[in-house]
Amino acid sequence: MQIAIIGGGVGGLTSAIYALRAGCQVTIFEQYGYGGITATLTDIENYPGVPKANGFDLTQQMLQQAKELGAKTIRKKVVSVVEKDNHFVISTTKDQHVADAVVVASGTRRNNLGFEQPFVGKGVSYCATCDGNFYSGQVVAVAGSGAHAVNEALYLANLARKVYLVADKPLKADQLLLDKLENASNLEVLADSNVVEVNGQDKLQQIKVMCNGNLKDLDVDGLFVAVGASPQTEFLPDTVAKEKGYLVVDATMQTTHKGIFACGDVTNGNLKQIVSACSDGAKAGWYSAKYVKMKK
Ligand SMILES: Cc1cc2nc3c(=O)[nH]c(=O)nc-3n(C[C@H](O)[C@H](O)[C@H](O)COP(=O)(O)OP(=O)(O)OC[C@H]3O[C@@H](n4cnc5c(N)ncnc54)[C@H](O)[C@@H]3O)c2cc1C
Repeated sequence: MQIAIIGGGVGGLTSAIYALRAGCQVTIFEQYGYGGITATLTDIENYPGVPKANGFDLTQQMLQQAKELGAKTIRKKVVSVVEKDNHFVISTTKDQHVADAVVVASGTRRNNLGFEQPFVGKGVSYCATCDGNFYSGQVVAVAGSGAHAVNEALYLANLARKVYLVADKPLKADQLLLDKLENASNLEVLADSNVVEVNGQDKLQQIKVMCNGNLKDLDVDGLFVAVGASPQTEFLPDTVAKEKGYLVVDATMQTTHKGIFACGDVTNGNLKQIVSACSDGAKAGWYSAKYVKMKK
């Protein structure tokens, strides 16, 4: 293959479309489902030209478009990328593949609190759009203070009877979201607070919250953890420079390792959005194709 794309989210899929249209052979490696995070979103309101988009539909169309242009897809996790004899050897959990260039589009993985593991799938979740329906009419808490946490809390406020937003830091989100938060009557923000313990028998029943220095018990049916994310880059060689874990890229989306490009949430770009991942992906696809052609 000429270009290996690691990650089948919107960044990777757009990258594939641009590299294929530039005449290259492309293989997309994806460990889970194509479409990445975007495929799990039900209401996207800021993708230009589509005022209300369903993430699954949007990404399946991108995948279809890439496949129709000739993209090969491999449903496996990439575990290492090594440069050997002017080529890149991409190892998955099962086999090895060789490519002339690599586009890293592996996004981020959600952080955890460190102690909630026993209740994951039994009251603890990392995705309100995926699991929120299970808590219809019930009491839930969201841990986190960023835009993602605020989004999760607002989404849940439409389903649950009561939502606690346990915020360790001052809330950091668009004014529009903060206004919506203010108007949600069943949503209570616990400022300067941390979830410190999760308890229950077979499933989650209670969380302990350190709230302004006081320990508080909250009876909840669900806890949604939204405490940030970390870039997925462990399969890359050390020669690829990072900034706070995110891949450093130049204006052509090339990393500090020649022939390895990157796009989307895994890069050190500020805006972590679908439209920016697509824009990065277009550049990474186009410039990696240019790189492959110059290599010949
Ligand atoms: C709750 C939530 C709501 C959001 N809402 C919006 C919104 O309304 N509008 C908006 O513009 N943005 C929104 N975003 C942000 C947007 O979803 C992301 O910016 C976008 O999905 C980034 O795309 P990506 O392709 O870079 O990464 P991802 O979508 O994370 O895709 C990366 C893919 O790479 C795969 N992968 C990772 N490592 C490997 C490996 N080793 N081998 C193989 N595959 C691998 C993953 O499985 C994944 O499918 C939201 C994000 C969240 C969390």
